[in-house]
Amino acid sequence: MVTTPESSVQALARYEPVIGLEVHVQLLTATKIFCSCSTKFGDPPNTNVCPVCLGWPGALPVLNRKAVEYATLAAMALNCRINEQSIFARKNYFYPDLPKGYQISQYDKPLAEHGYIEIPGNGGRKKIGITRVHLEEDAGKSLHEGFADSRDSTYLDLNRCGVPLIEIVSEPDIATPGEAFDYLTRLKEIILYTGVSDCNMEEGSLRCDANVSVRPKGQEKFGTKTEVKNVNSFRFIKQALEYEIERQVELIQSGGRVEQETRLFNAAEGKTYGMRSKEHAHDYRYFPEPDLLPLVVDEKWEEAVRRQIPELPEARRARMVSEYGITAYDAGVLTASRALADQFEEAARAAKNPKRVANLVQGELMGRLKSKGLEIEQSPISMKGVAFSADLVEAGTISGKIVKDLYDLAFERGQDFPAIYEKEKPQQITDTGAIEKIIDEILAANPKQVEQYRAGKTTVKGFFVGQVMKASKGQANPQMVNELLDKKLGS
Ligand code: ADP
Ligand code: MG
Ligand code: ZN
Repeated sequence: MVTTPESSVQALARYEPVIGLEVHVQLLTATKIFCSCSTKFGDPPNTNVCPVCLGWPGALPVLNRKAVEYATLAAMALNCRINEQSIFARKNYFYPDLPKGYQISQYDKPLAEHGYIEIPGNGGRKKIGITRVHLEEDAGKSLHEGFADSRDSTYLDLNRCGVPLIEIVSEPDIATPGEAFDYLTRLKEIILYTGVSDCNMEEGSLRCDANVSVRPKGQEKFGTKTEVKNVNSFRFIKQALEYEIERQVELIQSGGRVEQETRLFNAAEGKTYGMRSKEHAHDYRYFPEPDLLPLVVDEKWEEAVRRQIPELPEARRARMVSEYGITAYDAGVLTASRALADQFEEAARAAKNPKRVANLVQGELMGRLKSKGLEIEQSPISMKGVAFSADLVEAGTISGKIVKDLYDLAFERGQDFPAIYEKEKPQQITDTGAIEKIIDEILAANPKQVEQYRAGKTTVKGFFVGQVMKASKGQANPQMVNELLDKKLGS
């Protein structure tokens, strides 16, 4: 009997990935975590430094209260339990961008533990556990220049030394690269809503290390993991994981063994490369930081921070769907940032009829944005503009047809709705005689429908309104059309 060799697709299907993510988020404090140097991004190199963040002998760290507050707020929004007492620890290693020779972090007693994030999954929602959220300081930056020739040099910018970070470590609950993408998307959204970080990946305010292993389906024991570092977009993390899963399965299939190691992702090639293996793994020799007292977040402080948790994206979406009758998809778009959701809700509530604002967003704005390839933040029509148009429709001043035309013009000219309206204010037909004339024509041309209406089928009125509006090119005052139709049909 001849057996054909298993295809790589079949092999892949026999394994399941296990993924855990470590995410670093920079906190938006004005000053560093243990000194009063500025955290400002982009300042000239080595201008925001002092003896504390440079690790000069004898300099002592003083904990920034705001950093603790922000870290606690983020941890709570991620459903973590806050430890009343946590301990700072020294993580010792040598690197040129770490002048102290150690990083102050937290180790066996972190600020917060046992949280979770919900992502879509299993036909509903899936909880991804968060092992811990801890506080730590960032290191400086090395800039490698001129490595193409002999004048190669490395420059050090120590401005980032001591900038406050939180590290958010997930449980190995993530089962696919797609779930990793969803987890990160949700994580970023939640952090953005809390306002404790700008999560700007280009500036390194959010960085992710992805740990991944594979195991034969049904096996309980985890396989050996590799860690992919320095990936600077969620899409690339997904790609790196996909590549890494295939590489590991192929390696095992061909009789090899996965080495526990750190790997780098090359985005141009879509491949990962080994960087350092376990033999060279760091032994950080953690020990409690002798210059800092245990961090105590007492009940009173915890309560004060808890009161600052804003309504989070998931809850806000659900509420907006029921309050404004919009689709889940549109609620997702409108809550993409807290500022946008605030703008929408402010406009909707100020308008005469909030649902009409939602309808216009859904019916007129979204489609136009999509066809122009614009994000909602780039929309020429602001949420205030939408509310303005909604009120005009509500009052019967303009018809639905004219709204469409004005939206088209706004997009064509890149101007907001009120400006377009002022300029193009449609010539409305408000002359009773003129409208009556159109109505008479419509009624005369549709005797069957008139008969139906008089026989009690009053819904036919909508048909007449539509015909009159069409005949008037959308310019007849809708309210007058309604009233005059009632008069003519009722008699
Ligand atoms: P390390 O000590 O190597 O940093 P940790 O236990 O701290 O490992 O875990 C780091 C991250 O790796 C966590 O997000 C965790 O969920 C994940 N992880 C741990 N073991 C595995 C594994 N076998 N496969 C995939 N991810 C794992
Ligand atoms: Mg770790
Ligand atoms: Zn400093």
